[in-house]
Amino acid sequence: MGLMTKAEYIESLRRMKPTVYMFGEKIENVVDNPRLRAGIEATGATYELAESPEHRDLIVTHSTLTDKPVNRFNKPPESVADLVARVKINRLLGRRVGTCFQRCTGLDCLVALSVTTYDIDRKYDTQYHRRFTDFLKHMQKNDFTANAGVTDVKGDRNLSPKDQADKDVYLHVVEKRDDGIVVRGAKCHQTGSLSAHEIIVLPTRALRKGEEEFAVAFAVPSDTAGIIHVVGRSSLDTREQDGCDCGNQRYSKYAPTVILDNVFVPWERVFLCGEWEFAADLVAYFSAFHRQSHGGCKAGKIDCMVGAALTMMEYNGTQKVSHHKEKVTDMIHRAETLYGCSLAASYEGRRMPSGTYFIDPVLANASKIHEGKEMAEATRLMIDIAGGFVADLPSDRDFDHPAVGPLLKKYLKGVEATPVENRVRMFRLIEKLAMESADTISDIHGGGSPAAHRLTIFRESNNEAKVTAAKRLAGIDE
Ligand SMILES: Cc1cc2nc3c(=O)[nH]c(=O)nc-3n(C[C@H](O)[C@H](O)[C@H](O)COP(=O)(O)OP(=O)(O)OC[C@H]3O[C@@H](n4cnc5c(N)ncnc54)[C@H](O)[C@@H]3O)c2cc1C
Repeated sequence: MGLMTKAEYIESLRRMKPTVYMFGEKIENVVDNPRLRAGIEATGATYELAESPEHRDLIVTHSTLTDKPVNRFNKPPESVADLVARVKINRLLGRRVGTCFQRCTGLDCLVALSVTTYDIDRKYDTQYHRRFTDFLKHMQKNDFTANAGVTDVKGDRNLSPKDQADKDVYLHVVEKRDDGIVVRGAKCHQTGSLSAHEIIVLPTRALRKGEEEFAVAFAVPSDTAGIIHVVGRSSLDTREQDGCDCGNQRYSKYAPTVILDNVFVPWERVFLCGEWEFAADLVAYFSAFHRQSHGGCKAGKIDCMVGAALTMMEYNGTQKVSHHKEKVTDMIHRAETLYGCSLAASYEGRRMPSGTYFIDPVLANASKIHEGKEMAEATRLMIDIAGGFVADLPSDRDFDHPAVGPLLKKYLKGVEATPVENRVRMFRLIEKLAMESADTISDIHGGGSPAAHRLTIFRESNNEAKVTAAKRLAGIDE
């Protein structure tokens, strides 16, 4: 097959028949549904830019597995240069779509599996790495997109998986057969699960002896029998459904709850089954790599926010206002710090026993903590610059209304040189950049909650060297 064009990608999704519910209805045509299509278009950008002469060299690389060109979203890094390229691609795409492009989590899973399946085989002489490599070839040959099914619904957070009143709140194996396993559970917040051909499922947390049934990782097509996607609400989502007041005219994000109701997985697609001590590694590798990813895409989103703020300054006549220039500068430095931290995590990357290169987890987590706070600050600054109409701009339908439209256009005019329609469009985009819940809340919880980022930093940081440095200065020799 080889690399897909964006049009081929969309057609490949059209051939899939997933079970989908949204707004209380069963959705038969995913690709042409305006709400879902806006999300699919965002992932489509990863195919579109791979075709473009300007960006092809960054996004397309060589697969040592198939000896063919491959989109980097399907290639676990084999060098520091690969790690760095990922951050640059993410920034480019974040800036292009102004929201989440929904293809990074698949690569995060591929990386976690490429490292961990190798380690499990070394310990237990199992077949997981060979199965994973076959799956990776399948992804590369078809240029597929994968989604990450990591977050279980988790029930009572105070209880471990085996102590839950209903065990299904953590996905688990309910049957082992000669030809495969049957699993049951639900994975929530599944970014772009319908923009993906495959769902890669990993455990959501570290496990203990006695919790073998929850230690399971596998990949299945997103339209496998028993998989039900329930598309979650996001603020502004009915705007796309209505085709009115969308703000971002091209792209959006959605994140379904995905129920796996007795889903059969053939052994060839099972990458962990019972080796409970490796669940922690899978989660740790997935989440640290995902946190490196955010430093690129969210810096790209701030680029859009800076562009919107500067445009509003022009439309409002505040370009020369010094506190606005200062605020824009504060937005830019936040983007660059995020980006710099993720680049640093990549430059400090190292080779794992499987041959996959992995980022520095402390720097990647530092980037993610920074994002959780600073994206909110960048948003606040953008809204401050733009003005109050971010909150309550009349609808396009009112602007088009013969009675009230001309009055609105008269009163919403900014500087004389700018058509009022442009000012209205820019307010609408800023509203979307600031308030698209499916995207903005990933700044905080995406890739794990902030407490998890801090835990990783404390665990992975070389604190002993810091204590030694302090004691040496104090003249303490223990
Ligand atoms: C927009 C968005 C997109 C996402 N995309 C994906 C995706 O594509 N794939 C995927 O798998 N996941 C995805 N996630 C899920 C994300 O990783 C989780 O939201 C995150 O891990 C937090 O889990 P939770 O939502 O269940 O919250 P909880 O785990 O309930 O956390 C809520 C709060 O309680 C704290 N807490 C919970 N349990 C404990 C405990 N035992 N001890 C101490 N503190 C505790 C947490 O630290 C946090 O402060 C996405 C999330 C969002 C918001």
